[in-house]
Amino acid sequence: MEADAPGPFALSAHAVCGRRGFLLAGTAGLLGLAGCRSEPPRGPARPAAGPGRAAVDALLEARSRAVLERDAEGFLATVHPDEPGFRARQEELFTALSRLPFGSWRESVERLEGTLATLRLAYRYRDFDTGDVVLTTYLELGRAGGGWLVTGDGGDREDAPESWTDPDVRAVRGESCLVVGRGPLEQVADRLDRCVPAVTAVVGSGWARRAVALLPGDADRAEELAGGRSFEGIAAAATATRNADGSPGQARILVSPEGWPRLNPLGRRVVLTHELTHVAMESAGDERTPMWLVEGFADHVAYRATGTPPAVAARELAEEVARGELPDGLPSREDFATGAPRLSQAYQEAWMACRMVAGRYGEDRLLRLYREAGRRSERDALRDVLGVEDLTGAWREYLRGELG
Ligand SMILES: [Zn+2]
Repeated sequence: MEADAPGPFALSAHAVCGRRGFLLAGTAGLLGLAGCRSEPPRGPARPAAGPGRAAVDALLEARSRAVLERDAEGFLATVHPDEPGFRARQEELFTALSRLPFGSWRESVERLEGTLATLRLAYRYRDFDTGDVVLTTYLELGRAGGGWLVTGDGGDREDAPESWTDPDVRAVRGESCLVVGRGPLEQVADRLDRCVPAVTAVVGSGWARRAVALLPGDADRAEELAGGRSFEGIAAAATATRNADGSPGQARILVSPEGWPRLNPLGRRVVLTHELTHVAMESAGDERTPMWLVEGFADHVAYRATGTPPAVAARELAEEVARGELPDGLPSREDFATGAPRLSQAYQEAWMACRMVAGRYGEDRLLRLYREAGRRSERDALRDVLGVEDLTGAWREYLRGELG
């Protein structure tokens, strides 16, 4: 049994779970689009005489079509021949894009300032995304013969980071998942596929029962994709892309390239089932449901599926309880903040609360409590679903009984 213990890394793996870390949250990534790093014309005086809107629209339409049709020649025909360095990087970019299963991809003009075009890039992964993922990117344009072609990127205006900023990116399609990135993608896909039924068993079949996971090539890329948040000590996180209006968009499970190899099989199963539960419950961007329910429920699904006992999965909390130190109340939002002093215990406390509710009232009511607590006050949800106003007393007794 011991060899199957997830280990401390797995158990502290959820620190950026749930509502935090909107993926692609900004346009200030550290790397621009691969292939978009040439030096554009700079200086305060941008040439006023830029291309007309119609010319840029036609150019972008040709690029978008080339990406979808995997037409390298068509794509490179939009790039100026006198910019060999930029052209080589655009070729690299195209190769990366051509390995990804886009259902749609469209660059369009958002703003034209002289020869600099600010673009709106909207894409969807085929069979997975139900709405557009929208990013801001930049292209510099230059005259070529009688027309206009792409000559560079936006210089210091950097594109939003995405998986294809890694020229070695590839994608693996599982039965119920798409895994994009670099490294053991097949392993992640296989594991994720097998986690889906465990989530459906508790949540029901009213969710997509599929997910997109990202496994970046290194820690820096993981941090970029996490919107600049540190990924240190984190195995995986559930995030969401951002819609044009700022609301949460498409779910992504971000897997840490450093954390994944350090997890044993049970740890991987726990971590991915936990994150997949967040996807099913649309936790990323959910600011209303109490954190103890969001995180405790995800752990409940994960540990229920793996049969992990409290003594293993709630080791730190059990040690405290054995010393007679019982927590005063259910963990708050602050208790789940990265770097919080009792972060592991916060997850364990939340899990034990959900485990207690599931055991005493049934999983259906635990699920109802989760949904109700996201719509109204916690107290009202508790009263209407469980017939109690507060769980603290019962939960402390439960901890004493289960862990003491
Ligand atoms: Zn979580």
